[in-house]
Amino acid sequence: MSILVTGGAGYIGSHTVVQLLEEGHEVVVLDNLCNGSREALHRVETIFGKAVGFIEGDVRDRALLDRLFAGHAIEAVIHFAGLKAVGESVEQPLAYYDANVHGSLVLCQAMAAAGVYKLVFSSSATVYGPDAPVPYMETMPRGSTSNPYGSSKAMVEQLLTDLCRADARWSVALLRYFNPIGAHPSGQIGEDPQGIPNNLMPFIAQVAVGRRPELAIFGDDYPTEDGTCVRDYLHVMDLADGHVASLASLEESGVHIYNLGTGQGVSVLEMVTTFERVSGQRVPYRIDPRREGDLAAFWADASKAERELGWRAERGLEAMLRDTWHWQRNNPAGYQQS
Ligand code: NAD
Ligand code: UDP
Repeated sequence: MSILVTGGAGYIGSHTVVQLLEEGHEVVVLDNLCNGSREALHRVETIFGKAVGFIEGDVRDRALLDRLFAGHAIEAVIHFAGLKAVGESVEQPLAYYDANVHGSLVLCQAMAAAGVYKLVFSSSATVYGPDAPVPYMETMPRGSTSNPYGSSKAMVEQLLTDLCRADARWSVALLRYFNPIGAHPSGQIGEDPQGIPNNLMPFIAQVAVGRRPELAIFGDDYPTEDGTCVRDYLHVMDLADGHVASLASLEESGVHIYNLGTGQGVSVLEMVTTFERVSGQRVPYRIDPRREGDLAAFWADASKAERELGWRAERGLEAMLRDTWHWQRNNPAGYQQS
């Protein structure tokens, strides 16, 4: 299949491009590089030994999209492009709704004009909201969202659902990711956040490599086994495989919702101690107050993806942490050093 990957120079996108190429798909990446790296795609080319089509540009640029669809026989789109920092979204709601909602809208308009009706969308477990019981299941309704980032994901899910209801030519996979971590086992590509990492995994990795003095654990008084928050971390390579598998669901019209997680909860403290064991590095930490908006514990029921797509997360926590460390140790400053 010939696939347009928006945001393909970013963390999850670059790993997905590798797995798409491995499966024999043709790939064109569109990315404005606001949080992605051209170097990531050069390294994908090294891993795979083949050039990746790349267009630098914005998903909100309708004229560019029209030219792109006219010039390539695209059959499906995997749409990663967007902004993802929860805290920043509270401070800059317009930028987030513009990139995430307006961006998706313009993309769908351009797709319809070009006669392309197959779309995979990067959604998030955050759309279940704070009151959903665990494990989260796709049959549960979307809950309330507490920040513009989460609201933008819920809005795009609704937009795409309405679109499929109105026009049976559309088929859309809404993939609700849990917490992707890890890196390609080659150590060539991985997560490279700009500035101070918001997420736990890159923060731990940067402490281990000496870029930051210590980790702040946000709260140890949650109603969990060791008092720290519990999340469902999954290997980014498994998540990439989930995107490849989800393409099969697009054969049938309508909306297809899948949780992509392992179904296992892991606490922050377990992450730290397992990382220390796997890497042989110490990760000094202190306990800070809770971070506003954090939920105590959630994880996926990922059985629908296994039943319908034949996908399940295969790589365990140790592999996630080993591959993270391999990437971080080889690239202490991320992509910048090369
Ligand atoms: P990322 O920032 O590494 O990748 C996003 C890519 O999109 C970047 O390369 C960026 O340059 C590009 N981009 C942003 N706005 C664009 C625009 N307007 N036009 C063109 N390109 C644009 O993020 P990621 O972690 O790889 O996440 C990919 C997607 O998955 C995002 O939509 C994110 O919201 C979603 N998601 C991520 C997580 C996570 O924990 N990483 C969890 C759930 C959902
Ligand atoms: N966390 C932490 N210190 C950090 C970053 C995150 O203790 O520097 C905790 C956070 O409170 C949450 C878990 O790690 O309980 C996962 O956070 P992350 O931001 O990676 O994912 P999300 O909040 O989206 O689940």
